[in-house]
Amino acid sequence: MHRWKEACQRARGAHRARPSFSLGISARHSTTPPPLTFEDHNRAFRNKSTWELVRALAVLRACSLQPLVDNSLQLMKWVERTGGEACLRLLLKRTLYEQFVGGETPRELRQCVRKVSGAGMRCMLAATMEEDVGQERRAEEVYQENCRRILEAIELSSDTCQSPMIQLKLSGLLPARLLVRLGDLYTASMDSRLRIVEAIADQMVKDSIQVSMFQESLNNTERNTLGKAVRRFKDICERARCKNVRVLVDAECTDLNEGLSALCLGAAAAFNSEAPVVWNTYQCYLKEADKRIREEMGLLSEGVHVCFGAKLVRGAYMLQERLRAQQQGLPDPICDDYSATSTNYDKIASFLLTLAGPRCHFIAATHNEGSIRLVIKRMEDEKIDRCFVSFGQLYGMCDQVSYPLAESGFAVYKSVPYGSLVEVLPYLARRALENKGVLEGARKEHALLVKELRTRLLPRTFGANIP
Ligand SMILES: Cc1cc2nc3c(=O)[nH]c(=O)nc-3n(C[C@H](O)[C@H](O)[C@H](O)COP(=O)(O)OP(=O)(O)OC[C@H]3O[C@@H](n4cnc5c(N)ncnc54)[C@H](O)[C@@H]3O)c2cc1C
Repeated sequence: MHRWKEACQRARGAHRARPSFSLGISARHSTTPPPLTFEDHNRAFRNKSTWELVRALAVLRACSLQPLVDNSLQLMKWVERTGGEACLRLLLKRTLYEQFVGGETPRELRQCVRKVSGAGMRCMLAATMEEDVGQERRAEEVYQENCRRILEAIELSSDTCQSPMIQLKLSGLLPARLLVRLGDLYTASMDSRLRIVEAIADQMVKDSIQVSMFQESLNNTERNTLGKAVRRFKDICERARCKNVRVLVDAECTDLNEGLSALCLGAAAAFNSEAPVVWNTYQCYLKEADKRIREEMGLLSEGVHVCFGAKLVRGAYMLQERLRAQQQGLPDPICDDYSATSTNYDKIASFLLTLAGPRCHFIAATHNEGSIRLVIKRMEDEKIDRCFVSFGQLYGMCDQVSYPLAESGFAVYKSVPYGSLVEVLPYLARRALENKGVLEGARKEHALLVKELRTRLLPRTFGANIP
């Protein structure tokens, strides 16, 4: 670890030229940016039409109604069943869908990207994928289609976005039980971690379908399926590198995460030699998060000597994780309470900031103002170049944070899911559920939206007197 730290610090000090995956932001601004505040509704919403504000307010209100969020998928399916897709469209396209989703067609998506870019932010496209592959027979077709969508996301990103990133759920490329098997093999020992990462990297570089390393541990069918998944992931990473798009692999539930890490680090070992192309995600609600990130960083930097990229999140599967641990009689993997998660987040962010440089990039994917302020303060105190650290929020959420951050000259990414209405709605319902904590806590955003609407809609003389 020390060697990596020293190498990063040396590189940071010595580095003058911009890395190939620069965020397109320089450390010093030619004009002084306005002071950063997350309270200014005028500044936060000035790029939004009044209709967009009304829609955001209505959607936020709806999302704070717990029974509605908890049953949203069933409700949407019921509307589709009884009234047909047309009815669903009438109800949701101009409201929930447009609030949270980038578009159904490349044209709509381009418009969305233009709007986000117009406000000085970037897009992290997230193609929706079918994950729940019940019928074995259809599985390969679904994985192939998911792969096609990710490749399309890369093309769209590179055509339309500045310093593009895409976000992907690797579980859309292979069966969950194979990911679990791979995870078990990967975690058997420190030595096995390195061997598996190298085997996957080797597979990606040499392009052969057989994963010989797994000859004894996986049966023929499993080896074949893994080989195809590795080939698909390789195609994705190769296209991404060629188009200068970074690939951020999502973290999912803990039973899948080790298998996801094996694949992600294997791809990083194959593609991150010059710059971080493939990044992993670290969930700070996990008690083990700090240990995990240090281990993975050590493996890439000292084991295979490549660059490291990290997306840092709090984590979206808290309820499922706790339920599973309870059902299986396992210890709860999640921090005891919200403040422990936040302490973990801030501690790991601070650690990453000590290493941030040309060979270590990091995105603080959070809506939490406290964590964002802490990262900014550390960046300023330690004069960390803004090329190496960025911020991420979900499209349609917390614009009062994203807009001022971008205006102050930081690299801000909006995570933008896209896909047809029917494809995207289950994904959205899950997102709403996953982020219930944020949506319930969106009181501040709500209050700022109300203030901005009052200022716009009430006559000036009255508006000026409103507190
Ligand atoms: C760009 C982007 C990418 C993302 N990618 C992923 C991903 O790959 N994988 C993933 O899992 N999530 C991902 N998320 C979602 C993320 O993990 C959070 O669920 C979401 O951002 C809310 O956390 P916060 O820090 O923004 O807000 P906050 O409101 O400050 O935090 C809410 C979070 O705190 C944690 N928490 C709440 N209550 C408790 C409690 N009682 N005990 C312990 N912890 C608690 C939970 O993680 C909850 O989501 C992503 C989010 C963004 C913005």
